[in-house]
Amino acid sequence: SFTVNKKHLCSNHPSVTSTNSPRSSFVTAHSSLAEMVFDGHLSFENIEHTTKDFGGRYHFTPSAVLYPKSVSDISSIVKHIFQMGETTELTVAARGHGHSFEGQAQAHGGVVINMESLRVPEMRFHTGKLPYVDVSAGELWINILHESLKHGLAPKSWTDYLHLTVGGTLSVAGISGQAFRHGPQIDNVYQLQVVTGTGEVVTCSEEQNSDLFHAVLGGLGQFGIITKARIALEPAPKKVKWIRALYSDFTVFSKDQEHLISSENSFNYIEGFVIINRTGLLNNWRSSFSSKDPVQANQFTSEGRVLFCLEAAKYFNPEDSDNIDKDIDTLLADLNYIQSTLFLSEVSYIDFLDRVHVSELKLREKGLWEVPHPWLNLLIPRSSIHQFAQEVFGNILTDTSNGPVLIYPVNKSRWKNGTSVVTPEEDVFYLVAFLSSALPSSTGKDGLEYILTQHKRILNFCGRSNLGIKQYLPHYSTREEWKAHFGSFWEVFSQRKSIYDPLAILAPGQRIFHKRR
Ligand code: FAD
Repeated sequence: SFTVNKKHLCSNHPSVTSTNSPRSSFVTAHSSLAEMVFDGHLSFENIEHTTKDFGGRYHFTPSAVLYPKSVSDISSIVKHIFQMGETTELTVAARGHGHSFEGQAQAHGGVVINMESLRVPEMRFHTGKLPYVDVSAGELWINILHESLKHGLAPKSWTDYLHLTVGGTLSVAGISGQAFRHGPQIDNVYQLQVVTGTGEVVTCSEEQNSDLFHAVLGGLGQFGIITKARIALEPAPKKVKWIRALYSDFTVFSKDQEHLISSENSFNYIEGFVIINRTGLLNNWRSSFSSKDPVQANQFTSEGRVLFCLEAAKYFNPEDSDNIDKDIDTLLADLNYIQSTLFLSEVSYIDFLDRVHVSELKLREKGLWEVPHPWLNLLIPRSSIHQFAQEVFGNILTDTSNGPVLIYPVNKSRWKNGTSVVTPEEDVFYLVAFLSSALPSSTGKDGLEYILTQHKRILNFCGRSNLGIKQYLPHYSTREEWKAHFGSFWEVFSQRKSIYDPLAILAPGQRIFHKRR
């Protein structure tokens, strides 16, 4: 029955599959959809792929998949469902590249919109003092990078992985090692075109329909489907000096990271990660990084210590290569990493930005890409980060062999106010990302249950100790938890929902609101 399915929608169970056949009102809705005419097409078959995502744990079957060829396709289907009012349970999920973790781009019994089919507008570049590009929201960031470079330009703020859509990352925030300076991707967008939950097509920006603009940025798809975005660009560098250096003391590590993000003339990218019980890791790096001090580096052993790796990058053009080494030496002179553990690499800008894709190809070859990914992303205020590190890296995590654990600070002052993303209330907060992969049939330390239990322990610790954290890419199963997540912003968030998507048709996979019946 549908009641059971609704329960499933709120379930925390690690692998949820729902394929029950819809009720008779669904059948009516279904046939009314079948009568619609589109520039693209609506498919009731071969929809299996939309029940999957990168997380690999939630599988909800939709009624149909729309492959839009125009914005009016998207507007018509949303309007049609909106006009059916409370007589239908149909919902609509925009699906970008389907790289969510908990079914956020899925719609049980609803319509999934395959945003990558929307090829309009064609990418259009505007050069000049404030360069930008207009793109379809279904465009992948990697394609935008390739095209922008032809104009000597590039977006300013990235995610670590570029095979994600513009609409998908703008719905969450889009954070990477450039965010300390430029803010997340949502802060580097001049204008959006959005189809709201009533089917209306609206252009919005800081100056025009600004409430909708702010709502949609980081809005988890709740207020509208982004169809077009105007993305800020800057002159693109050609090359990157990429640096890694190790620390064994968290206080020294975080002090250096915070020092680097506070200075104007710093690196262009600053991240970091944690290494627990991973003896072979430095040997792996040697294939792509060279050590500043190979003899000492060869003798370096972790001796069972938890290590923290600073990762930084400085952009440059070959004609400036004389100065760049001096600039880097100046920056490094202020830092207190373990001297023998400085690793350097020089790569093209594109290889640097697309670095995770190299790992993807290797993992795909071994059949280790399409496995469950129970990821946990947290934003932690600076005032709590030491307590967090001590407990989580000292007690809860015994190794980092299930996947990288990223940790780096960002400046809140560089983040715009008023978007839908909630962050800790401090000037500096850290992104800590547990990017685990689980072996599907394992019941051991590399299995799903074990990893989920560890994540629960981390979250319980944060809650018990009142660390003031916020989940990034949040996932909750009850309204109370969502309210707690948004805190005082909940009123605004839910009010905006009632304005822009009054029947709660959009992005049901986020499980914040339920379709009005
Ligand atoms: P989907 O998973 O398809 O959709 C995500 C949500 O957005 C869904 O609710 C969907 O309905 C909604 N949505 C999709 N398109 C639209 C649209 N056009 N309009 C409105 N709503 C829409 N995030 C970071 O911030 N930094 C990182 O460094 C980073 N690295 C990642 C690395 C990997 C390997 C992966 C898998 C994810 C990473 N992410 C990172 C997370 C990623 O940014 C989000 O999961 C993002 O939402 C995925 O984009 P997508 O195109 O696959 O969206």
